[in-house]
Amino acid sequence: MTTIASSLQAVNARIARVAQAVGRRPDEITLLAASKTNPAEAVREAWLAGQIIFGENYLQEALAKMPALADLPIEWHFIGPIQSNKTKRIAENFSWVHSVDRAKIADRLSKDRSESLPPLQICLQVNVSGEDSKSGVEPEELAALAAHVVCLPRLKLRGLMAVPELTTATALQRSQFHLLRELYDQLKQDGYELDTLSMGMSEDMDIAIAEGATMVRVGTAIFGPRRYPIPEELAARAAR
Ligand SMILES: *Cc1c(COP(=O)(O)O)cnc(C)c1O
Repeated sequence: MTTIASSLQAVNARIARVAQAVGRRPDEITLLAASKTNPAEAVREAWLAGQIIFGENYLQEALAKMPALADLPIEWHFIGPIQSNKTKRIAENFSWVHSVDRAKIADRLSKDRSESLPPLQICLQVNVSGEDSKSGVEPEELAALAAHVVCLPRLKLRGLMAVPELTTATALQRSQFHLLRELYDQLKQDGYELDTLSMGMSEDMDIAIAEGATMVRVGTAIFGPRRYPIPEELAARAAR
C-alpha cells in the first residue's frame, strides 16, 4: 500500500473509532480530503484508495490540477476564502462551496452557476472564534445570511462550516465547535433543512466528531506535511 493509502485507511479507522466512542454511527461522518499544496498525483493516489471528495482552498492551484484528474468523477469542494472576481470559475468547477460568508458572494455564485449543472451545494462559514482576522459571518448575522441564501435559485443551502482558533487549548476548541453545533440546531429548529456540519481537521477532528460534525476536512493526516506553508499558517506563526 502507498503511504497515502495507508494514511487514508488510518483516518477512516479513526473516524469510526471516535464516532463509536461517542455513540454515533461512523457513516454519519463524511471525510473530505483537503488536498491543497498536494499535486494531482497525490489526489489520484487517494482516489485509487477509495477517497471521492476533495477540498481545495486556492482557485488557481485547483484549476491547475483539475485537468490531470478529469478522468476521475471527483466531487470537488471549495473550502478557501472567496474573492468576488473568482465566483464564476468556482461556480463552474466545484460541486460544493463551504466558505460562503456574505450575501454578495452568494448572489454572484448563484448568478454564475450554470443551468446545466445541479445547484451549487452551500455551507455558510461562521466566525466562531471572534478573531478579527478570521473569515466567516458573525454568529449574530448568520440568520439573516441563511434567509438570503435559501432564496437564491442556483444554490442549495446544506449547512455550516467553521475553522476554530489554532490553539492547543482543547476546551476552547470544543466550545467553538459546540457554538457552531448550536447555531446549526437553531437554524434547523427555524425550519431550514440542513444536513451538513463541516468542522474538524487533522488535529481536532476527534473533538469535532464528539460535538456533532457530519463532515471532517482532513489534509496533513492523509497527505503528510504540506508542500509549502499556506497564508493562514504563516500568519499564525508570525503572531506567536
Ligand atoms: C487546510 C485546511 C483543512 C485541513 O487541514 P489539516 O490540518 O491539514 O487537516 C481543513 N479545512 C480548511 C478550510 C483548510 O484550509
